[in-house]
Amino acid sequence: MAKEEPMMDAGFKYEVAARPGAENITACFSCGVCTAGCPVSEVDDRYNPRKIVRMIMWGMREELLSSELVWLCNLCYSCHAHCPQNVKFTDVITNLREMAVQEGYADKKMLQKVDRIDTLMQVIRRELVAEVVEKQKDVADAEQLNTAAIVQQLTADDERGADIPCPETRETEQ
Ligand code: SF4
Ligand code: SF4
Repeated sequence: MAKEEPMMDAGFKYEVAARPGAENITACFSCGVCTAGCPVSEVDDRYNPRKIVRMIMWGMREELLSSELVWLCNLCYSCHAHCPQNVKFTDVITNLREMAVQEGYADKKMLQKVDRIDTLMQVIRRELVAEVVEKQKDVADAEQLNTAAIVQQLTADDERGADIPCPETRETEQ
């Protein structure tokens, strides 16, 4: 029996482009910059923002909205910031998620899984921010120590040089 071809939906890309933030989707020229800087693509071969945009353009509505792929993005905005065509992929993926829920492609089990991942991501983000703040505090403390050391050094130099007359004074004394 011949393999059943997936249904293509020619209007899918226009529907996505009509949603807030996803307007530039049709401007994508498939350069792959989004995928190159994506932390999820780095650890999971299945995830590829450039390919997701292609799937939208090719009208692969059912295949995409029912796939786990739309839930893997951690919304870090790296692709969004670097896209030369201002595609705003993070907004695109958020819209795909909304469509998946609205059209009944995301089942309860999947949404619970997403919830757990989201909670975990929030914990990781909080820990990363705390680490960065702690590092900045260490740098500030070190800078303060350096300044104190320089002031101390300058004061010591001044005290050592107190007996040495400045050139103008020397001229007056002669
Ligand atoms: S970076 Fe932008 S233009 Fe390039 S493939 Fe990704 S979405 Fe398309
Ligand atoms: S926002 Fe999502 S797709 Fe874009 S770089 Fe971050 S994880 Fe990847």
